[in-house]
Formats: sequence, structure tokens, C-alpha cells
Amino acid sequence: MPVNKVAVVDKKMCTGCGLCEDTCLEEAISVEDIAEVDSGKCTGCGNCVEDCPNEAISLE
Ligand code: SF4
Ligand code: SF4
Repeated sequence: MPVNKVAVVDKKMCTGCGLCEDTCLEEAISVEDIAEVDSGKCTGCGNCVEDCPNEAISLE
């Protein structure tokens, strides 16, 4: 059965606003031009998915 899901950023949708970086308790997201997820740190909690104003993150 599936391994744990992790957050994945849609590069075309992300504006680099930085909200997800602030909301991630695992410090798994860093934002320069756009958000990047460290899949080794991401627990798949989904907080960033809920908080992204542009629906640019999903769990996959
Ligand atoms: S909250 Fe959404 S739009 Fe903002 S940096 Fe994160 S992924 Fe990109
Ligand atoms: S799913 Fe949770 S742990 Fe993973 S990047 Fe988003 S906020 Fe961080």
C-alpha cells in the first residue's frame, strides 16, 4: 500500500508568497522564487495545502 504522501508544489501555480514556509512546523519548505519541499522532512500533515492561497500545493 502507498507510502506516506508528501507535499508537492505546482511550479506554475506558486507565486512565492512564503505563507507555506511559515505554516510548516517541520521546516520542510523553503521559498526563494518558489516553494520547495524537502520530502525527507515533510510528514504529509497537509497544513501547507490548506494555507496556500493559490492551491499550489497538494499531497502526492
Ligand atoms: S503558500 Fe502557495 S503560493 Fe505561497 S509560496 Fe507556498 S506554495 Fe507558493
Ligand atoms: S505537508 Fe506539513 S510537513 Fe509537509 S511541507 Fe506541508 S506543512 Fe510541512
